[in-house]
Amino acid sequence: MADDSIYEIHEDTSMEMTTFSNYLKKKGLKITTQRMLVAEKIFSIHNHFTAESLQEELKDRRDEISKATIYRILSIMVEAGLLQEHNFGKDYKYYEHIIGHEHHDHIICIECGRIVEFMDEKIEELQRKAAREKGFSITGHDLNIFGICDNPPTCAYNKKNSQ
Ligand SMILES: [Zn+2]
Ligand SMILES: [Zn+2]
Ligand SMILES: [Zn+2]
Repeated sequence: MADDSIYEIHEDTSMEMTTFSNYLKKKGLKITTQRMLVAEKIFSIHNHFTAESLQEELKDRRDEISKATIYRILSIMVEAGLLQEHNFGKDYKYYEHIIGHEHHDHIICIECGRIVEFMDEKIEELQRKAAREKGFSITGHDLNIFGICDNPPTCAYNKKNSQ
């Protein structure tokens, strides 16, 4: 899947792994080898992924990791505030991890699935202003803009290569 990330890749996952295992301990959840393996993989992915694509990346292992295990870890990580869940207009969810990634919004091509990240302080401020005027303090937001790539050949190329 074509994916334009505006953030730098960091290879060291130890901070995330520590946070994750501390969360499991705190919640009385089991720290299993499989859970740690899946977590390590998740923290090494620096773009938007799905449960499906994650399982795909883990499939060359001898002991196969079940969909159920993957879904369980994803939901624990969302609860723990380590992963953000996105609805990009498909019948499945996208995920990306939060630590080391600053807040940003997304533009998604409904034809080829290209995901572009952006951050515009003016838009952020307008949202804070709208919330304030309606009597809210913002705890978070998820802004997804849907559209179609302006360049048809690029879009067709992405479409072909994301399948
Ligand atoms: Zn935003
Ligand atoms: Zn993103
Ligand atoms: Zn496109």
